Amino acid sequence: MTLFEKIANHEIPAKIVHEDDELVAFHDINPQAPYHIIIIPRKAISSINDVTLSDATLVGKMVVLAGVLAKKLGVEESGYRLVFNCGSDAGQSVDHIHLHLLGGRGLGWPPG
Ligand code: 5GP
Repeated sequence: MTLFEKIANHEIPAKIVHEDDELVAFHDINPQAPYHIIIIPRKAISSINDVTLSDATLVGKMVVLAGVLAKKLGVEESGYRLVFNCGSDAGQSVDHIHLHLLGGRGLGWPPG
């Protein structure tokens, strides 16, 4: 079981900001911006490489939740970034798909 599944099951503590039957969202332990939330599905999917059309609604709900949380954080006007890291070149360190929501400061482009 991955670290993120353990967080979703409350076996490892995290600052959870949302949970429902399908999704869990929590503050990143090592925030890269004033607001850095991780959104995961409860379903174990290792990476975006493993997402199939049958997961389209689930992944869509992750994006919808990101928008809702961005509004709650008050960054819907100032802006924010959503990121799926996939594989080693992108720095994916947990093999359970997760959407980063980063906001609260100007974010450089291109990313590092
Ligand atoms: P990745 O690098 O795989 O795209 O993102 C994994 C993220 O999970 C990193 O930003 C990292 O800081 C965060 N993370 C790793 N371990 C923990 C943990 O135990 N708790 C929380 N809340 N975040 C974690």
